[in-house]
Amino acid sequence: MRPVLLITGGSTGIGAACARGAARQGYDIALNYRNSEAEANAVADACRADGARVLLCRGDVADPAEINGVFAAIDAEFRRLDALINNAGIVDQTATLTQMDHARLRRMFDINVIGAMLVAKEAVLRMQAQGEGGVIVNISSAAARLGSGKQYLDYAASKAAIDCFTKGLSDEVAADNIRVMAVRPGLIETPIHAKGGEPGRADKLAHMVPMQRKGTAEEIARPVLWLLSEEASYITGSTLDVTGGR
Ligand code: NAP
Repeated sequence: MRPVLLITGGSTGIGAACARGAARQGYDIALNYRNSEAEANAVADACRADGARVLLCRGDVADPAEINGVFAAIDAEFRRLDALINNAGIVDQTATLTQMDHARLRRMFDINVIGAMLVAKEAVLRMQAQGEGGVIVNISSAAARLGSGKQYLDYAASKAAIDCFTKGLSDEVAADNIRVMAVRPGLIETPIHAKGGEPGRADKLAHMVPMQRKGTAEEIARPVLWLLSEEASYITGSTLDVTGGR
């Protein structure tokens, strides 16, 4: 039986690369996205061509009712859930704290932190009920260590919360054989930079990376999928930097 994997934010970038890789590795996939329907359809088609059963599930992770809708669709289609890549996330325009208002901070934390926690909660409930364990990989960021002052410290703080959440949840569910880890990507070429108003950001900052280059979404997807696999069976609570040394 193929394990069932939910990927939030699977329409573009890192989530899309994880979906394509997971299909090749034998997972069936629930592919969540919020706006990018055409891109999500293209990812789903590529996964199906590699033999995966794919459920496209649109839903905003900042909205608890929409999260419930995503899980209801998964329950109806697959009746189980074995793995989660908690990947949906946003940045915002470059700004200092003095330029940030309450609405910006709320949106950042609603999507990047509370959304990720509620998605993980629903996944854990299903994994515990199945009684066969499970695996969760949260997508953090090197920003959680770097702080991102004068760029987007709200984003960095949201990802630091994900690192802490990863450790806490891993302790809570380890005895249920549910492993929980985080991956901290560095500067990766994806649409996220353009969405934050800086399309050339990865190229502009590549000189700050010890390896002197930006990374690709596939270079994040490979270690994420390794953490999901039995190869990583004694790893939990860990946070893995995938940053070219940054
Ligand atoms: P991306 O290409 O912009 O992908 C983000 C994905 O998240 C898209 O599928 C987007 O869907 C989805 N999404 C955004 N808000 C959502 C919401 N409220 N509900 C549901 N889905 C939502 O960016 P990416 O670079 O691959 O980012 C993936 C993760 O990696 C994020 O958590 C990001 O913080 C993290 N990361 C990225 C980098 C980097 O340099 N790229 C570095 C460190 C960490 P729609 O487009 O359909 O809205």
